[in-house]
Amino acid sequence: MENGWKKWGFQGNEELNMASALTIRGILTTLMENLNESDDRPPIALGQGDPSVFPCFQTTPVDEDSIVDAVRSAKFNCYAPVVGILPARRSIAEKLSCDLPYNLTPDDIYITVGASHAIEIILTVLARPGANILLPRPGYPFYEARAAVSHLEVRHFDLIPEKGWEVDLDGVEALADDKTVAMVIINPGNPCGNVFTYEHLKKVAETARKLGILVIADEVYSFLVFGSNPFVPMGVFGSITPVITLGSISKRWIVPGWSLGWIATTDPNGILHNTRITECLKSYVNLAADPATITQGAVPHIIERTPEDFFSKIIGMTKEAADTCYDKLEEIPCITCPHKPEGTMFVMVKLNLQILEGINDDTEFCIKLAKEESVIVLPGIAVGLKNWLRISFVVAPSSLEDGLGRIKAFYFRHAKKN
Ligand SMILES: *Cc1c(COP(=O)(O)O)cnc(C)c1O
Repeated sequence: MENGWKKWGFQGNEELNMASALTIRGILTTLMENLNESDDRPPIALGQGDPSVFPCFQTTPVDEDSIVDAVRSAKFNCYAPVVGILPARRSIAEKLSCDLPYNLTPDDIYITVGASHAIEIILTVLARPGANILLPRPGYPFYEARAAVSHLEVRHFDLIPEKGWEVDLDGVEALADDKTVAMVIINPGNPCGNVFTYEHLKKVAETARKLGILVIADEVYSFLVFGSNPFVPMGVFGSITPVITLGSISKRWIVPGWSLGWIATTDPNGILHNTRITECLKSYVNLAADPATITQGAVPHIIERTPEDFFSKIIGMTKEAADTCYDKLEEIPCITCPHKPEGTMFVMVKLNLQILEGINDDTEFCIKLAKEESVIVLPGIAVGLKNWLRISFVVAPSSLEDGLGRIKAFYFRHAKKN
């Protein structure tokens, strides 16, 4: 009998375990297991980007009311159309059109279960046998994990730290072939905290045009910029090459748990329609799970009613946190920061292992840091850059200073003696 359970059919898809190990969540879980329970100090999580857990980063009562109103209206207890309800798609189309040289229509918008689901959908739609996709390094590993599950080959182009993390466009051209379906850019950048200029984005579009591929633009941090470069949506260049923009309410309204995002096609020349990619997208949303209709019902109010000062407050606090982080990191000799963050909640910094005793790589650094100082930071290898770190600075200000102070103490305890 016991052996009966070991037959071929009684096994899960082991590929999923490998894909899961690639994700930030998977890696952070491993790091958390290394926290020392006998440390009296509270653990400080500079690993993930979810500020909603801190009282100073709460969403507005206006947005909470939008959800309550949607529930009370009893209009959203139904199944939604697979592409999402019209008022939600309309308000997202109008909002995005404000920054574009042409208008999106509700037909250009597909509502998803957060931007993660948008990534899942678009990679599934593009993953034909033999196809490959170009992803940034460093990047957001959810793309790699989803590509692995869909058997979509991944090729990495570099972001160049010395050039403010701009895309190595020569590298992109060298990687692409006739089976390349798309390139992904994340702007403002996670994990690098950079913001691409108009000129650079235009070059990205022209490179994609030359290669005959579309651009997937992950713009979940579109509002969160505080440096000298303004945010420019990739859709501005939709007439050069088709652009598929991914967004969500998670980061902007600090409600990742509300799980609502979107795919927007910015393609004034109708190329996605003519190549039937739009049709495949529509077919796949028929197969995919829908975001809760309640949250969809709240979207128009969330977009229209949130007071501007909520965003300016969040941007101000994030900028302050970024400045504190940058200044405090300068005091830690084993860490260098090639580019001061100008957007998002993250910064990528380089580890100098040569001046450390008994620490061989970024993962070991992070595990020991968790054990000895109860501080969690993400090893760069998780986002594709070995011996770097990604630090998230959106935590309560006192925790940020405390956390960076502990990293400094950690350095001095492990510094090479001579
Ligand atoms: C957080 C994040 C996502 C996922 O967004 P959700 O709406 O929470 O699913 C996608 N891309 C990037 C770059 C992110 O930082």
